Amino acid sequence: MKSLIVLGSTGSIGTQALEVAKRDGYRVTALAAGSNAKLLEKQARQFKPRFVAAWDKSAAEELKLSLKDTDIKVLSGEEGVCTVAEGEGDIVLNSIVGIAGLKPTLRAINAGKDIALANKETLVTGGEIVNRLAKEKNVKILPVDSEHSAIFQSLQGSPEKALKKILLTASGGPFYSKTRKDLENVTVKEALNHPNWSMGAKITIDSATLMNKGLEVIEAVHLFGLPAKDIEVLVHRQSIVHSGIELSDGAVIAQLGTPDMRLPIQYALTYPQRSDYAFERLSLTDIGTLTFEKPDTETFRCLPLCIDAINQGGLAPAAVNGANEEAVALFLSGKIKFLQIADLVEKALISVNNKKEFDLEDILQVDKQARDTVRQAI
Ligand code: NDP
Repeated sequence: MKSLIVLGSTGSIGTQALEVAKRDGYRVTALAAGSNAKLLEKQARQFKPRFVAAWDKSAAEELKLSLKDTDIKVLSGEEGVCTVAEGEGDIVLNSIVGIAGLKPTLRAINAGKDIALANKETLVTGGEIVNRLAKEKNVKILPVDSEHSAIFQSLQGSPEKALKKILLTASGGPFYSKTRKDLENVTVKEALNHPNWSMGAKITIDSATLMNKGLEVIEAVHLFGLPAKDIEVLVHRQSIVHSGIELSDGAVIAQLGTPDMRLPIQYALTYPQRSDYAFERLSLTDIGTLTFEKPDTETFRCLPLCIDAINQGGLAPAAVNGANEEAVALFLSGKIKFLQIADLVEKALISVNNKKEFDLEDILQVDKQARDTVRQAI
């Protein structure tokens, strides 16, 4: 029986990962999250891990009290989350949101654990150092993001060198076909209303701005080793083709399925095996039509800004990511308008003090500078 550590266990991906773990009989050895002490307590009582960590120190204090009748050890703060990530367990599923996931990923890789990675910001900000360490420690990075899982699944059985192009699909989000004028005064509620996926707030806003697709282009560069020019983004409203590849002989292979994150989560955990369990089978005749279009990069500027950042390389992706995290938080709290998100991401990209050789401290420094740039600009 595989043992599993779940980081970000209280979130959208984390709760679905625990559902998969329960059904497939994984032993959950540790859980970590941010501040939701009530749900962490419930999960701890259900899965009986040895360790639970809350990044928020008062949530950790609350947990210590509520779990004091158990043998579960409660850890706190960033160091607590990282300690959990490197503890007993075969595989770490990282579904923390944002750059907060980077350090725990590095600590888990350093401890030799395979990573089922939902936290795309890990690769966006630290792709080079993550890949270098994973190679050195001989650990696998298994994508959970549905598009990257689809690419990974499509690649199985093909020689690595045959990969010529990636077809990265995008739902288009809630504001598909809208003009900049239409988007001037959209509300948080409208932006959170995703047509096909139910996800955490940050990634849902990223889907509305197409920042999510930009982050995914960067993630794909690090996972599959193609430059951004060989990654084609296609707006595919039905979210049935989760992404695909084009090979050297012109063959196009894609993975299709219903929009349900439990399949990519499950595949990352069972790889290279397949589970016998399907959550929901796809009926193509029920779907009928699959459509593909070019994205509107004039209206949704975050996508080209991310492509610009990965083409510049170095610390530029960390800058756009940090600025976006800050701008999305400001939008969610009603302090800026929707279209300002892209303006602020652009400002951070222009201001970044870039360098080609860098380490974790440089990434965290650029993240902080990008956030400062955003706060000063509003
Ligand atoms: P949610 O907002 O639903 O969950 C985020 C999780 O991260 C929560 O458990 C939260 O804890 C935890 N968390 C937040 N800050 C910290 C911190 N500093 N330290 C430790 N834990 C922290 O997000 P999602 O599940 O939607 O997304 C998670 C990641 O997966 C993101 O990177 C996203 O881009 C990616 N992803 C998500 C998909 C989806 O369908 N949701 C699809 C593909 C990728 P708490 O709630 O207790 O504060």
